[in-house]
Amino acid sequence: MNDPEEFRRHAHDLVDWIADYWQGIEEERATPQVLPGEVRASLPAAPPTDGEPFERIVADFRELIKPGLANWGHPGWFAYFPSNSSPPSVLGEILAAGLGAQCMSWATSPAATELEQQMMEWLVQLFGLPDGFTGSIQDTASTSTLTAFLTARQRHGDLPRMTAYWSSEAHSSVKKAARLAGIPVEHQRVIGVDHAFAMDPRALAAAIATDRAAGLIPGIVVATVGTTSSTACDPLGEIGAIARDAGAWFHVDAAYGGTAMILPEMRHLFDGLELADSLVVNPHKWLMTAFDCSTYFIRDVELLVRTFGENPEYLRTAHDAEVVNYRDWGIPLGRRFRALKLWFMLRSYGTVALQEMVRSHIAMAQRLAAVIADTPEWEVLAPVPFGLLCFRNVPTSLKGDENAIARHNAALMEHANSTGRVFLSHTRLDGKYVIRMSIGQFRTEWRHVEEAWGLVEAALVAARAENR
Ligand SMILES: *Cc1c(COP(=O)(O)O)cnc(C)c1O
Repeated sequence: MNDPEEFRRHAHDLVDWIADYWQGIEEERATPQVLPGEVRASLPAAPPTDGEPFERIVADFRELIKPGLANWGHPGWFAYFPSNSSPPSVLGEILAAGLGAQCMSWATSPAATELEQQMMEWLVQLFGLPDGFTGSIQDTASTSTLTAFLTARQRHGDLPRMTAYWSSEAHSSVKKAARLAGIPVEHQRVIGVDHAFAMDPRALAAAIATDRAAGLIPGIVVATVGTTSSTACDPLGEIGAIARDAGAWFHVDAAYGGTAMILPEMRHLFDGLELADSLVVNPHKWLMTAFDCSTYFIRDVELLVRTFGENPEYLRTAHDAEVVNYRDWGIPLGRRFRALKLWFMLRSYGTVALQEMVRSHIAMAQRLAAVIADTPEWEVLAPVPFGLLCFRNVPTSLKGDENAIARHNAALMEHANSTGRVFLSHTRLDGKYVIRMSIGQFRTEWRHVEEAWGLVEAALVAARAENR
């Protein structure tokens, strides 16, 4: 298909397909019905020797691949966190792929670097970040957090004595980053949380004091605003002050919750961010940007470049002294042109529409949380600061039997999910199994939230009838 005319024809067809897919997405199941190995078994064992007509490839996509995909854009998508592939950001992705630009150095695509710089500046303003932050776009929060750990390690320079701290509710990518950065398990400190699942700053201070007395060096403290299980918010001000005092790097993981910073009324959850050395927010979750797009903010660029910079002869260019070469700001050399989709998205919606969307998700979550809390035998197990609520049903007959309550709630969730109308996921809080409902898909309206709650309630009615 190297002929642009042929590409044009197929591209038009595929764009039509995507638009039709979006138009009909509500009538589809949220989740696929496939068994492990089923899709793979339908594919040829070996690559084709001769090229095939594109129509046939697309037909196979529709028949073999599409039915095996979850519909993350479904308005009944309440599992995990949202992954919002908004139309303008998808157009940016198509264009980025079409350009095939490599954005490793300024010289390899000057406008890509400068657009990325400006998008990071726009986000600094949109999020109302404290002075001094700048940054770059990474693939995922996992990479951003690993980047923070590697930079902290560079700053401390004494890996064998370096310790790291995060709460028991922190994302698994934090532990992974510690491991990859070479911090041994004996120096990883998992700090306890309070009744709202936020890190207990006194426990952090105590752990740090013990480590210092033992001659260890507190290297990095990670706080989370919007934990993955329950969107708990660690108190950044207190934690940041402790980290500062100890000379530790202070990294804030706001991969999901950070989007709420676009709302002035939510900024108080981020008080203390002025003490942070680095911050990650994923626009590819709640902020309407097609995967992948993780924004990593940092203050000490000089240290960042000292950590990641390499300057082989074959990459040197005439302007290196005057420009930013993002290849020196992180792990990969080759970089996608991700700023384009962010630019399309931010301009296409504008701040006000984005704020209204995020506000509406939070309002829907709080509204349903109030309904559930008021329903006998149902409980909401964590505060609802963002778009996520965690709840469970505790029948009087099962009171005190945590295993039975867990099985009961898992069955309710399975029952609701099996309809294909919604997709909920679960977690455990304080050992208790809870149904986790994350409201953040941009197509989700209150009627979809009501439908999901109705399906869970119907599952309860069905379960009662079965037990009778
Ligand atoms: C989703 C999430 C991550 C991981 O995000 P990736 O971009 O998929 O690596 C990290 N931290 C928190 C709090 C998250 O919610």
